Amino acid sequence: MRALRLLEWKSDPQLVEVEDPVPGPGQVVVRIGGAGACHSDLHLMREFGPGVVPWEPPFTLGHENAGWVHALGSGVTDLEVGQPVAVYGPWGCGTCRRCRLGMENYCEDPLAAPVPGGGGGLGLDGGMAELMLVPAARLLVPLPDGLDPVKAAPLTDAGLTPYHAVRRSWPKLGPGSTAVVVGVGGLGHLAVQVVRATTAARVVAVDTREEARSLAAAEGADLTVAPEDAAAEIRAATGGRGADVVLDFVGSDATLALGAAVGRTLGDLTVVGIAGGTLGLSFFSVPYELSVQTTYWGTRPELEDVLDLAARGLLRAAVTTVTLDGAVEAYHRMQAGTAVGRQVVVPTD
Ligand code: NAD
Ligand code: ZN
Ligand code: ZN
Repeated sequence: MRALRLLEWKSDPQLVEVEDPVPGPGQVVVRIGGAGACHSDLHLMREFGPGVVPWEPPFTLGHENAGWVHALGSGVTDLEVGQPVAVYGPWGCGTCRRCRLGMENYCEDPLAAPVPGGGGGLGLDGGMAELMLVPAARLLVPLPDGLDPVKAAPLTDAGLTPYHAVRRSWPKLGPGSTAVVVGVGGLGHLAVQVVRATTAARVVAVDTREEARSLAAAEGADLTVAPEDAAAEIRAATGGRGADVVLDFVGSDATLALGAAVGRTLGDLTVVGIAGGTLGLSFFSVPYELSVQTTYWGTRPELEDVLDLAARGLLRAAVTTVTLDGAVEAYHRMQAGTAVGRQVVVPTD
């Protein structure tokens, strides 16, 4: 089969011929229906090098995957060939307490995981191929009726990651509150929808690009602003108080500084984007009791929540599909800032 593989750090991935995977005991091979292109792939193919993460190329890209069960390894009894499934992306050890709670994103025994701190498309072969080997049946979540794999694929990361980030701030997002989404790309456009679907907060969306701000407005943002106007407009829109929760899907020096500038006393500043910025901390540099945290991906039970919201029509990824042959171009568009919503690779006809 063909697979889009990162062969070495600091290079474009290559479309190459590889052997079809065969499931071992307890494993499952998924026929991929959709594999989302995430900005994290750009970070890892452009910026990462030896030692940044505990794994190395070569591997097949694609860590946002959904499709149909293709072949079952021995001992897998709770799935059927042909069944539509989403792949839960962070692959932990499966046995530590966190993993047993479904929080494999925060596995505490990563050396016992299939790849330490990674998963399919992140150190092991991912979904930008016709078939993908999933090392344990527990990492598959059956798709609810009405949700097809192309629409479901982005939900496994671009939907799940914002859901996890928003959910931890639910107590601060009651009526009268304001949430700011910075960066309305693959993750951010779903973050706007997650805030709308699961809280009473007003949503302000910030992006450098006009088309991204338009998408945010279409997804229900109450106010959209360009970064240069954001601090003043958000202060004005909140009666000077600031935003209860800022969700930063960029993570640059500029966006972190914006988050601190518009955050409210007792609020949350949650950094999801990995652009590598830093935020200086001194007694007077952030509002009192503003909690600042990074978040990584989400839990398996949260993925079930996200798929349920989507099946009910409350979350909908704005998807552009491309073929495997068009995948490298799709990453180039993402880098150039000409992609809108999520680009999803559909490997087979
Ligand atoms: P994307 O390229 O689809 O979207 C990024 C958006 O940010 C674009 O719309 C862009 O115009 C906008 N943007 C860029 N600079 C900006 C600025 N200074 N101010 C306002 N907006 C700006 O990217 P994505 O796939 O949605 O990923 C977003 C970030 O989240 C990436 O850094 C990615 O690596 C990271 N990520 C983190 C996790 C996690 O678990 N923490 C998971 C997935 C992705
Ligand atoms: Zn990702
Ligand atoms: Zn674990």
